[in-house]
Amino acid sequence: MSQTYRSSRSASPETVSFETAIIQGLGKDGGLFIPSAIPQVSQETMFSQWSKLSFQDLAFEIMKLYVNESEIPHADLKDLINKSYSTFRSEEVTPLNKNLIEGDNINILELFHGPTYAFKDVALQFVGNLFEYFLNRGNGDLPKEQRKKITVVGATSGDTGSAAIYGLRGKKDISVFILYPTGRISPIQEEQMTTVPDKNVQTLSVKGTFDNCQDIVKAIFADKEFNENHNVGAVNSINWARILAQITYYFYSYFKISGSNPDIKIKFVVPSGNFGDILAGYFAKKMGLPVQKLVIATNENDILDRFLKSGDYARSGDVKATLSPAMDILISSNFERLLWYLARDQLANGDDIKAGEILSKWFSDLKSQGKFSVGPEVIKAALVDFDSERVSDPEILETIKQTYETSTSPKNYILDPHTAVGVKAVYNQKAKDSNSKDIQYISLSTAHPAKFASAVDAALRNYSAYSFEKDVLPADLKKLSALPKKIKLIERADIELIKATIDEELSKMDL
Ligand SMILES: *Cc1c(COP(=O)(O)O)cnc(C)c1O
Repeated sequence: MSQTYRSSRSASPETVSFETAIIQGLGKDGGLFIPSAIPQVSQETMFSQWSKLSFQDLAFEIMKLYVNESEIPHADLKDLINKSYSTFRSEEVTPLNKNLIEGDNINILELFHGPTYAFKDVALQFVGNLFEYFLNRGNGDLPKEQRKKITVVGATSGDTGSAAIYGLRGKKDISVFILYPTGRISPIQEEQMTTVPDKNVQTLSVKGTFDNCQDIVKAIFADKEFNENHNVGAVNSINWARILAQITYYFYSYFKISGSNPDIKIKFVVPSGNFGDILAGYFAKKMGLPVQKLVIATNENDILDRFLKSGDYARSGDVKATLSPAMDILISSNFERLLWYLARDQLANGDDIKAGEILSKWFSDLKSQGKFSVGPEVIKAALVDFDSERVSDPEILETIKQTYETSTSPKNYILDPHTAVGVKAVYNQKAKDSNSKDIQYISLSTAHPAKFASAVDAALRNYSAYSFEKDVLPADLKKLSALPKKIKLIERADIELIKATIDEELSKMDL
C-alpha cells in the first residue's frame, strides 16, 4: 500500500509525500498532516511476530507502514532508526518498570533514557536524523554556497529546547537557535542547552517572558523575507515524524506485559499537554493494538478534560504555572488530528473532504470566538478510546510522596512531577474501574526527576533518608555545571534585534 499525507483542514483530495509532510511541518491551510490511511496489523502479526522484536526492529516494522520504500529505502530507514536510538542509555530504549507497587498493577514506562532525560528525545533524536537525511539527499556533493540549508528557530520555557538541540547538534546544513527567557528556566535546563559545543547550535537568552520569546518566534515564521532567505524550520510538536516515532513504545510496552497473549487488558495513562504523546497511542490502537483505554491526564491546564466532559473546546483565560510546566498549555495543538478522525467517523463512508470542511469551521470558530462545540455523538465516539483525569498541584506533591513511601520494586521510587500527574490519574481510574484487578495500567513517565528538582524537593525534603544529590541527580547531569556555557544575551525582546543576532551568528557558524 502506498502512503501519502493530507491536511486536516483540506477540502480537496490532494495529498503530499512523507518528505513534504515532514519538512513543511504544517499544511498550507494551517492544518496538520495525517496519513491517508491508518495501516492495519493483524493479531497474528502482532502477537506471534512483533511481540518478540527489539525496540529498533519494532520501530522499523511500524515506520515502514507509514513511509513508502520509494521515498526512503528500507536499509536507510533501518539505519536512521538504529542511529537515533544508539544515543539512549538503556538497551531497551524505553524500558518498562513492571509492578512498581506490590499488587497495584501499575507499570511505569520510562521514556526518559535519551540524551536530555525527557520523553521528547524519543521523537527528536529521530527527527534530527530525518531532517539531515532529506537535506543530504537533495544537496549531494554540491559546494557549500549552493547547498540548501535549514535554520531551526524555537522558543522554550525550559524542557523542549534541550531535546531539540540534542536532536540537531552537529547535523550538516542545519543551524538551530533556541530562545528562552533569561533567569526563568531552571539551572539544569540552562546548563543542558548552553553547554552543547557544536557550532551549529546557539541559545539566545532573552530578557523577557516565555510568551515574549514565543511571540518573536511566531513573528519570525510570518516574516516572508527572512523566511525565504533562511528557510526557517520548526521541529515543534505538530510534526508528523514526532508522532510516528512515538507509536513504537505503545506496542513495545504492551508486549512487555502481554507477551504473545492477546487477552490481557491494558490501559495507558499519559500526562498530556499538546496531545502528541497520547495521540501516538491512538494510532497504535487504530492499527489494531487491543488497548482498553487511553487515559488523558492533565494538570490544572485542563482544556482536554473539560472537552471530554462538556463537548466545548474552549481557551481559558491564562495559562496556569503548575509544578508540571511541560504540560502548561491553553490549546493542545495535536488534538486537531484526533478531532479530524472524530468528525470523519460521524460521516457516511468516512468522507475525508467533508471532515476537512468541518475541522476548518471548528478552528475558524476557535480563532474568532475562543471556542467551538461538538455534538454529544462526537464525545460519545471519543469516549470509546479515551478517558480523562485532571490532577492538581497538591495532588502532584502527594503522589510523589506516596509513591516514594509505597513503591516496592524498586523501593523509594522517585517520580518527576509530570509522571506524578499520570500516576495520580491511574489511582483515580482504579477507583472507578470495577474490574481494576484484571487491568494492567501502563503509566507513561515523561521526564527524569532530576530535571524538576524544586518540585521533587518540595515533596521529599522532610524524609531524612532522601538526598537530591545522591538519590536523583545522575552523574552526567552533575558534570554539566563545570562545562563552559555558550550564551548569547539579548537585552530586549525585540524581533529586529533577534533577527540581526541570528544573521550575525549564522555568518560566524559558516555552515
Ligand atoms: C512535552 C511533555 C509532556 C506533554 O506531552 P504532549 O505530547 O505535549 O502531550 C509531558 N511531560 C513532559 C516532561 C514533557 O516534556
